[in-house]
Amino acid sequence: MSLPIARTADGQSGLAALAADPARALIATDYDGTLAPIVGDPAKAVAAPGAVAALSRLAALVGTVAIITGRPAADAVALGGLAGVPGLIVLGHYGAQRWQAGVLSAPPAPAGVQAAREALPGLLAAVAAPEGTMIEDKGTALAVHTRRTADPAAALALLWEPIGRLADRAALTVEPGRLVLELRPPGMDKGAALRGLAAERGASAVLFSGDDLGDLTAFAAIRRLRADGVPGCAVASASAETPQVAEAADLVVDGPPGLVRFLSALADSLLGVTASVTAGRGPARSSRRPARPRRRACSVRR
Ligand SMILES: [Mg+2]
Repeated sequence: MSLPIARTADGQSGLAALAADPARALIATDYDGTLAPIVGDPAKAVAAPGAVAALSRLAALVGTVAIITGRPAADAVALGGLAGVPGLIVLGHYGAQRWQAGVLSAPPAPAGVQAAREALPGLLAAVAAPEGTMIEDKGTALAVHTRRTADPAAALALLWEPIGRLADRAALTVEPGRLVLELRPPGMDKGAALRGLAAERGASAVLFSGDDLGDLTAFAAIRRLRADGVPGCAVASASAETPQVAEAADLVVDGPPGLVRFLSALADSLLGVTASVTAGRGPARSSRRPARPRRRACSVRR
């Protein structure tokens, strides 16, 4: 198995910086479609085999490992079986919620969300939304899924305008995703969440992986961080439903199983750095912070 090589020079630099100073690095990932395969019922989206083990290995090597998701943070922790990942930070509701060390901090739902919550069932009935259209209540956001309808794309097209009008009335924004329209308060996005966490943790390198349109804000945050002198790498969990995510990424993996392989290979690579330093073969200032970047650390093959 080989560790994927970034297809952009900036992404490669981000991986090299991460490998050079893992103790100050931030590795963050989306949950659905990235760590967990997409399934018809979002309540049954469990993490891909090996995902928890890979995150746990990285958590022992990297300064910060985080999940950034649109879900309630506690849902991702429970569904993913993530409670045992040491030091894991889970930002739910696009950063409005935080789970850490078993403690959840969550703000009350904005008033507009409550208004939309009350109006949505009537709206779906009024436009004759097809059988299988489903509302997912995320607490501080509401998602309308069409994946389980007979013609998901047509159902999404039917709902786009009326849901947009509802969002306007409730002072919410509509974020499209993979056969889903999500109503949420403005200013809540994964890019803001990622930048905030990177600043809080003093990250010297940042990696983020995602699969959906909502993850593009985090990819943009990676580019902004790079402009600010913080190297980073945007990783796409590729999906035929959202090819624009792969197009915007520095590195592309094949869905959640591919991401698990990538994270595992990254952990192997970082362990190699740590082991060589510990054994005295490398420049040994500390086992967590090698003095010199490992050359092309992300192209190690095993
Ligand atoms: Mg996703």
